[in-house]
Amino acid sequence: MAMLLLHLHPSSSPSLTCLPSSQSLRIPTQKSNQFCSWRPGFCKQSIFRISCKGSLTTRKKATEISAKASAAEKQGTYAMEISEEAAAAEKEGKYDAIVIGAGIGGLVAATQLAIRGARVLVLEKYLIPGGSSGYYERDGFTFDVGSSVMFGFGEKGSLNLMTRSLEAVGKLVDLIPDPTTVHYHMPNSISIRVHRDYEHFICELTEKFPHEKEGIGKFYGECWKVHNALISLELKSLEEPLYLLEQFVRNPIACLTLAFYYPQNAGDIARKYIKDQNLLNFIDAECFLISTVRAYRTPMINASMVLCERHAGGINYPVGGVGSIAKQLVAGLLERGGGIKYKANVRKIILRDGKAVGVRLSNGTEIFSKKVISNATRWDTFENLLDQDAVPEDEKKFQKLYKKGLSFLSIHLGVNADVLPEGTDCHHLVLELVMNMDA
Ligand SMILES: Cc1cc2nc3c(=O)[nH]c(=O)nc-3n(C[C@H](O)[C@H](O)[C@H](O)COP(=O)(O)OP(=O)(O)OC[C@H]3O[C@@H](n4cnc5c(N)ncnc54)[C@H](O)[C@@H]3O)c2cc1C
Repeated sequence: MAMLLLHLHPSSSPSLTCLPSSQSLRIPTQKSNQFCSWRPGFCKQSIFRISCKGSLTTRKKATEISAKASAAEKQGTYAMEISEEAAAAEKEGKYDAIVIGAGIGGLVAATQLAIRGARVLVLEKYLIPGGSSGYYERDGFTFDVGSSVMFGFGEKGSLNLMTRSLEAVGKLVDLIPDPTTVHYHMPNSISIRVHRDYEHFICELTEKFPHEKEGIGKFYGECWKVHNALISLELKSLEEPLYLLEQFVRNPIACLTLAFYYPQNAGDIARKYIKDQNLLNFIDAECFLISTVRAYRTPMINASMVLCERHAGGINYPVGGVGSIAKQLVAGLLERGGGIKYKANVRKIILRDGKAVGVRLSNGTEIFSKKVISNATRWDTFENLLDQDAVPEDEKKFQKLYKKGLSFLSIHLGVNADVLPEGTDCHHLVLELVMNMDA
């Protein structure tokens, strides 16, 4: 597949520290940001991430970084952060929960437990938090490890999970709204910008495909139906029957809508309304970004969530880089009595009478707790951290049904912002061949 994904990000250089909460709100125009220019390379299945140094005018949101986290940030190290409560719990062997991994998922689980009074310890094998939503620094540039199209910072609905997770621990991050989610460069010289404003996006799409005006309206209209159902529910695990029952009693129409779309994929629905192959290719590319597979393999619920939420809650980039989210969650965790250890590589989950009661690290240390939560991938969790005879039957079935997706190469380049044309979009997807989007 010849696909190039470019993420052009303002670097979180030291000048981009958080603004004081009293500062007034300023929404930057594209002009006020400096982005970097790019030249598409020749590469198969590559993701180019480009970070650039430059000044930014930021939208203001109150930000608090705890003294502890700021100090750790200045020192450039987070070797071990542990509150007195967590240290005491460790001595007494009384952790309520150990979380393996300080990705966003692990940190949200840990903070949600900590605010409910649980004594929590997060164990992270790397040096800093964030996982795929983490960061690293080289020569004055800060690069995002993975995520950069950031959802979840909306103000309404139930999909504003980032906003709510940070608020739960009294934290916020400064945000820069992305005016464009992605600028697609498709074969046949088709260029489409997905504007933050939904009407603007639909106008652009309809201008490119006037003969498909009706189909475009119907396809994205169905996406909104699903999105509206989703945001009307309190989003928790869809695997918990009791939770599902409770939601059904509260909002049967939304639940039935989701049940109707649950077995459907975005490709079949798009093909019901749209015939133009170039437009279908564009929808495939949209789905590929969401799920790394084409539309016909992307569940309609997942596609709708992303294709609509980018307009509803918008895409927002945290000042200081995506890593700011993890840093703030860690600060919130520490303030609520939790702890985190870095370079703590969990090798085994210790079981007693079939129950997880602790973990063994690569240096042989054993730490015990009432519950163990794994934020490692499900493959690592079930294939490596647990002995095979302890793997639940459901998981074995899952592993037979699903195979891992393909890996890809990610290249990170740093350039100075002053070489960039003003108003350059932040995320670009360059697709040269559509034939092998599954390959
Ligand atoms: C290149 C790339 C680009 C992406 N772009 C986007 C995007 O633009 N928008 C978007 O919404 N999403 C994007 N994603 C997806 C998003 O980043 C992830 O879904 C999300 O960050 C996953 O978070 P997580 O906490 O579930 O897992 P992870 O981020 O994988 O965190 C798991 C953590 O566990 C640690 N760990 C694992 N095993 C152990 C162990 N044995 N002991 C101790 N620690 C362990 C790891 O070091 C890691 O820190 C992207 C992902 C990648 C890889």
